[in-house]
Amino acid sequence: MSEPIEIPEANRRNIIFEADPGDDLAREIKQHIRETSKPHTWWGHSHTKPTTGSKPIYLDEFEIPAPKDVRGVAPCPICPHDHAKYKNGKIAWFPHEMVIRLIGPDCFAALDREGLSPPEQNSPEVPFESSPV
Ligand SMILES: [Zn+2]
Repeated sequence: MSEPIEIPEANRRNIIFEADPGDDLAREIKQHIRETSKPHTWWGHSHTKPTTGSKPIYLDEFEIPAPKDVRGVAPCPICPHDHAKYKNGKIAWFPHEMVIRLIGPDCFAALDREGLSPPEQNSPEVPFESSPV
């Protein structure tokens, strides 16, 4: 097992976004990841655990370039340890806490499931309801 990944001290707190993040911010995040391969060092990433009942809203997703046999490169704030966990990450907005977390797909799915929609209405492949015709 690999060594824990160092998280910048500045990211170990909730970094508040007063307004809903838009496409510009998602673009900035993805550019940072392209340039550094380190989502956890983006200045706005909160490397903290969500409070109970806090639900993520999907903003975008990203892939960190890595060889095929490498399964994880970035640490996920939801997972118990700061080891390399994922390379296909989600940009998740938590409106109740007003923070953005860059997290692994399994944790996103788990948090999403525990959220608003009742289990029988879950449709993880379709993030947004299509409008009625
Ligand atoms: Zn995780």
